[in-house]
Amino acid sequence: MMMFMNAPRPATIGKASEQFIREPNLRDYDQARREFDWRRARNALSTLSEQAGLNIAHECVDRHAAGPSAAKTAIRWLGKNDTRCDLSYGELATLSNRFANVLARLGVPSGARVFCLTGRVPELFVAALGTWKYKAVFCPLFSAFGPEPIRTRMEIGGASVLVTTSSLYRRKVAGIRSQLPALQHVLIVPDEPDVAPIEDTHDFAALIDQASETFVVPPTAPDDHAILHFTSGTTGTPKGAIHVHEAVVAHHATGRFALDLHPEDVYWCTADPGWVTGTSYGIIAPLAIGATLIVDEADFDASRWLDILEHERVSVWYTAPTAIRMMMKAGVKATRERLPDLRFLSSVGEPLNPEAVWWGMDAFGLPFHDNWWQTETGGIMIANFAALEIRPGSMGLPLPGIDAALVEVRDDGSVTVIDEPGREGEIALKRGWPSMFRGYLGQEARYRKCFAGEWYLTGDLAKRDADGYYWFVGRKDDVIKTSGHLIGPFEVESVLMEHPAVAEAGVIGKPDPVAYEIIKAFVSLKAGFTESEALLRELLAHARKRLGAVVAPKEIVVLPGLPKTRSGKIMRRLLKARELGLPEGDTSTLEGG
Ligand code: ATP
Ligand code: MG
Repeated sequence: MMMFMNAPRPATIGKASEQFIREPNLRDYDQARREFDWRRARNALSTLSEQAGLNIAHECVDRHAAGPSAAKTAIRWLGKNDTRCDLSYGELATLSNRFANVLARLGVPSGARVFCLTGRVPELFVAALGTWKYKAVFCPLFSAFGPEPIRTRMEIGGASVLVTTSSLYRRKVAGIRSQLPALQHVLIVPDEPDVAPIEDTHDFAALIDQASETFVVPPTAPDDHAILHFTSGTTGTPKGAIHVHEAVVAHHATGRFALDLHPEDVYWCTADPGWVTGTSYGIIAPLAIGATLIVDEADFDASRWLDILEHERVSVWYTAPTAIRMMMKAGVKATRERLPDLRFLSSVGEPLNPEAVWWGMDAFGLPFHDNWWQTETGGIMIANFAALEIRPGSMGLPLPGIDAALVEVRDDGSVTVIDEPGREGEIALKRGWPSMFRGYLGQEARYRKCFAGEWYLTGDLAKRDADGYYWFVGRKDDVIKTSGHLIGPFEVESVLMEHPAVAEAGVIGKPDPVAYEIIKAFVSLKAGFTESEALLRELLAHARKRLGAVVAPKEIVVLPGLPKTRSGKIMRRLLKARELGLPEGDTSTLEGG
C-alpha cells in the first residue's frame, strides 16, 4: 500500500503583506529593532501622570472609555447556547469600576489574590479588570481543573477571593473549602436554572448592582504585582509565575508587532484565560490596542470555529498547534470568499510543524505565523512577522526590544553566547523587558536559578540560521541522546506529521544498552486511517528516508490520542513514564485527567 505523499514544499512563504495583508504594524524589521526602546513604548501607551503610574486596567479600558472609542465594542461574547453579548469600552470601564468597588466593600486588602474559576464568561473579564483597578492580583484557573489542582493552586496563592460559577462551586470547591482557611469571599455567578443561594457565598450580580460605577484607580507602581499565572505543567509540577502592571507595555507593543493587531481589527484568541496566552493576548493586548475581541464560551468544534471566523468577520486569529492539528484532522477547508476579512493567522504554545503552516495556506489561503514565548516571559519574544517572509518550521525573529541569544551553560553556571549559525544552544533573553516574570511564588531559589548574570535561561533549545531565524529543537528536558547524537523531538515529529495518515506525533528517548537511548515515536491517526503493519512499515520507511537511520525512530506506536496538558501541549514526560512503567508525576494539568 503506497500512499500519496505530499509534494516537497519550498523553504519559505513570501511576505504576508504582499499577499492579503493590510499595512503591517511593523514595516521594517531592522529599522524597528534599531529604533525601539521600552521607555518610548511606555510613553506611547500610558495617559496617567508619572505619579499615578501604570495600571493595566486603565490602559485596557479607561483610556479608551474616556475618548472617542467609548461606544466601540470591546468584547463580543458568544455564549454556548447561541446567546451573545457585546460590551463596549465604556461599559467595560464602569463594570470593572463596580467590581473594584465590590472588593473595597468586602474589605479586601490591596495586593490580595483574587482567583477566578469560571468558563469564558463576561464576568471573568469584568473581574480581571476590576481586580487590576483595585491593585489586587488576578489569578485565573482553568475551569476544567479538578478539586485537587484547584486546591493546591489556591493554597500556594493564598487566595482570599474566588469568583466562580454555581455549578463549578458545587462540583469542585464546596468539598475543599474547609481546607482553604485564607479564602474569605466567594462570589458566585449562577449558571444553572433556579439556583438557591449558596451558604457562605455572595451573588456576583447583586454585589455588582449595588456597587458604585465610579472608581478612581489608585496610584499603581509599574512593579506592583498584577497577575499570578501557573505554568502548563508540561515538564513537571506547575510553577506560579508573578507578573506586574508594567507588563502591559509589552503586551501592547508585542500585540502590535507580532500579531499585527490594529484598533480596527476583530480579533479572536482561542486560548483560555486560565493560561497565560488567554490573559496576555486574550484580554490585555487586544484591549490595550483598542481592538474588538471575540470571546467564545464553547469548547473546540471545527464547524463552529469556521462559523465564528465567518460571521464575526474575524481579521486576526491567534490559536495553537493542537487546535490547528484538530482542524487538520477534521479536514477543515474554507475559501477566501467565505472569509474575506481574515488576514493574519498566528500560533503559539508548541512547535508548529511546517506541515501545519502549509495547511493554513491550503485551508484558509493564509499561512500560520508561529511565535514563541513562555508563561515566564509574559509576552511574545520571537515571532514570524507580517512584514517578513515565513520560514515554515521556524519560530521567527526576536521582537524589537528583545535581546535573544543562544547560549551554552557550563557546569560552573557561566554562559557563553553562541554566534555560529546552525549550532544548537539554549534560548536566553537579556533581562529587562517589562513582562518578565518577577518570581515563582514561594520558590525564590528556583527563580534565581533561571538567571545567569544578565541572561534569563529559558530551558528551551534552538538553532539559528544565518539570517537570525530561530528554529526550535526541544526542551532541555526532552532532548534525546542516541549513539552520541543529541536529537530534538520536534524534528522527528515534524517529519512524521508530513505523512498524510498522521494527525499528531510525540517522540521520546527510550533507554537502550547500546545507543544509550533509541528514538521511539507515538502517533495518532487522522480520520479515515487505521493502524496496520503496512502503515507502520511505511511510516518507518518515510522517517528513515527523510531523517536518516540515526535520527529516524526505531519504534512507532499508534495511540488513539496523545496525552496533552489542558493548555494543549503534548506531554512527552508522560509518554516516557508510561513507556518505562515509572510514576507519572504531577498530572494535575493532564487533559481529561
Ligand atoms: P512547565 O513550565 O510547567 O513545564 P510549560 O513550559 O509547557 O509548562 P508554558 O509556559 O505554558 O508552560 O509553555 C511555554 C513553553 O511552551 C515554552 O518554553 C516552549 O517549550 C513551548 N513553546 C511555546 N511556544 C512555542 C513555539 N512557538 N515553538 C516551540 N515551543 C513553544
Ligand atoms: Mg515551562
